[in-house]
Formats: sequence, structure tokens, C-alpha cells
Amino acid sequence: MSLHIAFFNFPAYGHVNPTLGVIEELTRRGHRVTATATDHLAPSLAAAGAEPVRYNSIFGDYYTSPYTAEANAGEGMRCLQEALALTEQVEGFYRQHRPDVILHDFMAWGGRFVAARNGIPGVRMFPTYGINEHFNIQERFPMAELTDPRIMEMIGKLVEVLPEMGLPGITPPEFFFQIAELGIIYVPRRFHYDGDTFDDRFVFAGPCLGDRSKFQGTWAPSGSGRPVLLISLGTAATGWPEFFTLCLQAFGNTDWDVVMAVGDHVDPAELGELPANFQVSRHVPQLDVLGHASLFVTHGGMNSTMEALYNGVPMVAIPQMNEQRANGLRVEELGLGTHLPRERVTAQSLAAAAASVAADTAVAARVRELRDDMRAVSGPVVAADAIEKFVSTT
Ligand code: UDP
Repeated sequence: MSLHIAFFNFPAYGHVNPTLGVIEELTRRGHRVTATATDHLAPSLAAAGAEPVRYNSIFGDYYTSPYTAEANAGEGMRCLQEALALTEQVEGFYRQHRPDVILHDFMAWGGRFVAARNGIPGVRMFPTYGINEHFNIQERFPMAELTDPRIMEMIGKLVEVLPEMGLPGITPPEFFFQIAELGIIYVPRRFHYDGDTFDDRFVFAGPCLGDRSKFQGTWAPSGSGRPVLLISLGTAATGWPEFFTLCLQAFGNTDWDVVMAVGDHVDPAELGELPANFQVSRHVPQLDVLGHASLFVTHGGMNSTMEALYNGVPMVAIPQMNEQRANGLRVEELGLGTHLPRERVTAQSLAAAAASVAADTAVAARVRELRDDMRAVSGPVVAADAIEKFVSTT
């Protein structure tokens, strides 16, 4: 039976990208897929086969994070305002085109509101760690003090809006931590903290990488035969231009072919004359580059981490915020690379960390093993099967 499956996204690459492979699989099976989207992210969702449902995000084109614990305390209120804006703008469409199920990113609270207000079954998606009775990243790696007045203000507003958003009698802790009937985690169980504590209310799909060539172009190595080093701080980190200068010093005129993606907050032209072994651009087709890379110097975003492991690439992780710190520590704990705290980054420490990880045959073996493990199952098939089963039983 052909279903209408609605994806409610949080407008960030790191939240949309992991769903693309699932959308491809669902549309291949003949289902209608719609997906809430800003103008910026609509092309990637459309290329995967979804019908974008446009709305104007309060974050603008796509989300960028302040990345300081201080500023992060205000993020809860922005997420709530985003959820209310999303609900207001797309609910009319979904009343006319009623979906069989709403898949909502764990930060796209608007999906929960539309599902609850209209009696539509919901599935929660985690492009990062899941949440259960035992594990909750906010407790293990706190981002902001829960007693911060701005968080208290958001909680007050949430209490006020939950009844009209179809969730009367739900307290804020229940809203955040109550477990959905089905949660899809785009991380493999082996990588997940306390993975064994997640029962069959959760599905570990692992990374569900789609074909990004239609909206992102492709990349091929130079043919020099030299090992490829990818450097990127992801898409949401706002500015750290000095980091890229340090990378030029650490890896300029070495034996690496370096591909460096500097993002939207640094102008490549401002980096001055580039060493001959560097290719610098704002964005790169990351999956293609990782397919040829021997090492990834990364901020340790969950997608970057998963994509590296899926391609068998060890990492030097330089986290910018709590979830990335959790990832960097996990990479180190599992022996898949190393974690270099931001405050210890110098040209020398970068060069030393890269040399040590690249030379470590035990790291290489563990990364290959995890890669093979991840490739032994098809994440999109696991997720699509779980979604179809969920709809047939609700
Ligand atoms: N990405 C990309 N090209 C770039 C930089 C990033 O394709 O130049 C993609 C990357 O493959 C990943 C996502 O953007 O899928 C970044 O997500 P992640 O969770 O790693 O970090 P975030 O940007 O959310 O901090």
C-alpha cells in the first residue's frame, strides 16, 4: 500500500542529510514523501524524491549555532519559536494532505505539534544520540545550565503552549524525554553511548547516506597518488578563521593532498597564498572526498563522524560544542582516531595528531572493522521497514 510519509525537519544540513537515504528508499518503494523545507534545503530533499513543503524558518536559510555555552542557553527558546512558526505555516497543507505518519527530527518540535493536534501517528528521528531512560546527552555532556533564566523562560512558554499544541497534561520533562513509540537513530548501536540499553522501541539505522551529486556536484582526486586529508568544521560552526590558518601552517607543503572546506564564515580569498598541496573552497562534496581520504580533521559533528566511519577514514576530532565533544571522546574511546581539544590546537599539535593517527595501524584496523560492520546492513532499508511496520500496526 502506498503511504504518505511526512518528514518534519530541523533546518540544518546535519539534520536533513541523514534522512536523504531513507527518503530515497521510501520513494523507491512507491510512497509519497513530503518534507518541510527552507528554500536552502529544498533542493537536496527534492533530489532525494521528496516533495518540499516550504516554510520560512526563524533561523533564516538554515541553522547556525552560536556554539558557546553562554549563548546556547537561548537556543531552547529559538527552537520553540521555530516549532510554532513551522506549525503555523505547514499545518494547513497537512490538513489538506493528511499523512499516514509524521517523522519528526527530535529538534523539530513542530512535527510533534502537528501530529498531536491532528491525531497523526509520530515517529521521532535522532540524527545524533537517542534518548532513553538511561542515556540523555544533556545529562552526560551538559550544554547549558538548566537553571539559566532563559531556559526557565522557554520552559514557562512551553507549559503555556503545550495544551493548545495538542499535548495537554504533558510536562516539559515528559515532552523532552518521554520515549516515542518508535525512535529511529541514525547512528550504529556500536558507536552509541550505552547502546545496549536501547530496547525495541528504537531502531539503529546507522547513517543513511543518499546520492548528493544532483545538488552538490562531485569530486575526484588529483591523481597525484598522494594520500588525501580532508579538513572541515561542518556547516553550523560560526567562524574560527584562525583554525584554517593553523591548518595551512601544519599541512602546507607536506606529503598530503589537502582538501579544506572553510564554510560560509570564512572567505577563502582571505587565507592568502595557498600552498600547492591545498585545495580550498567553502563547501565540498564531502562523501566523495571521504571516499578517497586517508584522514579527516573534523569538528566531530555526528554526520561527519558517521560519514568518515562509513568510508573507513580515521579522525582527528576538534569539537566545538557538547555533542561534538561527546563524539570526539567516543572516537578516542573506541580507538577510531583522536580527540584534540580546541584550546590545545596549534600548528604543531595539529601536525602531531594527524601524523600519529595516520601512522596507527591499530586505529586503521578498528576503523575498517566498523566500516564493514556498518556496510553489512542497509540503513535506509532498516529505517523504511520500521516505518512501514509502525504504520501497519498503529
Ligand atoms: N558537508 C558537506 N560539505 C561540506 C561541509 C559539510 O557536504 O563542505 C555535509 C557533511 O557531509 C555532513 C553535514 O554537511 O553531512 C554536516 O553535518 P555534521 O553533523 O557533521 O555537522 P554540522 O554542520 O551539523 O555541525
